[in-house]
Amino acid sequence: METPRPRLTLAERLYLPQVIGGIAVTTRHFARNLALHTLHLFGLAKDRAAAVTTQYPEERKTYTEGYRGAHRLTLKPDGSVRCTACFLCATACPAKCINIEAGEHPDPNVEKYPVRYEIDTLQCIYCGMCVEACPCDAIRMDTFVHPRLWGYQREDFIEPKAVLMERSRILQTRGRDALMEDMQRAYERGEDRGPALGGRLTPS
Ligand code: SF4
Ligand code: SF4
Repeated sequence: METPRPRLTLAERLYLPQVIGGIAVTTRHFARNLALHTLHLFGLAKDRAAAVTTQYPEERKTYTEGYRGAHRLTLKPDGSVRCTACFLCATACPAKCINIEAGEHPDPNVEKYPVRYEIDTLQCIYCGMCVEACPCDAIRMDTFVHPRLWGYQREDFIEPKAVLMERSRILQTRGRDALMEDMQRAYERGEDRGPALGGRLTPS
């Protein structure tokens, strides 16, 4: 059954009350925060918190253990990719942003492997369904880094297999903070390619 749309009043159709209301809310928060920050400078009203902007990526908040960050493809002990190209993650992905091309592995004991594995981070909604769907713990989101923040073309935000594997190598060899440090260093230098960034390292 079709539900009739409610009729808008003249004031609602003009949008002006809503615009003025929005500006009033913003102004109220601005004035409150300005006043509280000024009082804090003089040691007053310390018990009342004022909004603080975290200057990311220079500053970072502490993330909880359940934080879902940029993806990584986990590795076997020999350093090769653990993924068996079963497509379960791509099937479970609600954003349809995982693209896999499966290939025959040269090792007869391994049935398949991903010749190409890419995640379009502009489409990804960071829901974690791919991690949940994977039957062999081949993809994780425990990197504690955001996907890359800057780029000049859509391809800059497509993370290929090489980048996803490199994150696992960095985690294993230099620890979790190294991923973020690499990203911050690259951001300061204005680099647009490199480990942990989501740029293409090598053809995957
Ligand atoms: S986190 Fe969600 S949207 Fe992103 S690749 Fe995984 S399943 Fe798809
Ligand atoms: S990451 Fe896991 S679910 Fe996705 S294709 Fe590889 S093995 Fe399958």
